Amino acid sequence: MVRPSSRTVAIAAAVLIPLAVWGWIQRSARLETQRRAAAAAQLITGRPVQVRCPGVIRRHFEYEINDGEVRFGPDGLPGNVADLAGAPCDGLHRLITEGAALDLSCLQLDACSAQDTRVALGVVVLTHESVHLSGVADEALTECRAVQRSPRVAMALGATRQAAAYIQDWQFSVADDQLPDRYQTPGGCKLDGG
Ligand SMILES: [Zn+2]
Repeated sequence: MVRPSSRTVAIAAAVLIPLAVWGWIQRSARLETQRRAAAAAQLITGRPVQVRCPGVIRRHFEYEINDGEVRFGPDGLPGNVADLAGAPCDGLHRLITEGAALDLSCLQLDACSAQDTRVALGVVVLTHESVHLSGVADEALTECRAVQRSPRVAMALGATRQAAAYIQDWQFSVADDQLPDRYQTPGGCKLDGG
């Protein structure tokens, strides 16, 4: 049996220990994001729900089609879990971490950094999936309700009232415009009212 030299062990430790620490930090950040996102979603659903973000492994090996997903059962009722993709989760994490320090006025010109745009995306996707979790399956009705409720979700995650309003404007005038037809309310979604 060849025993690894103490030098080999030292090199392996020098690589593996920081990697383990990095993994642990990533994981606790993800758990905190999920916990805060679920609490914000609950403001919309009125019942306990779970929000899941992809971990390091899943991010690299899973092809993500949707920004978010809620599964409905054969009875037409939603499950209790919303799965979000990596980008909206990154945005939610940034919002939770930066909070009131985020200005987001750049959204008015759709001229934000990728990081700041992901903050808005995170709020938009989380609110949309929260409306699904509250029992709405139709995509147009879901997104129309989501655009009315996103400021509440944004503020629950730490956004200022002004930043939350910027996010809502961006959702209404930029993001929703890019969604497929089945997300569009015939005659247009009204910002005030049901
Ligand atoms: Zn949807």
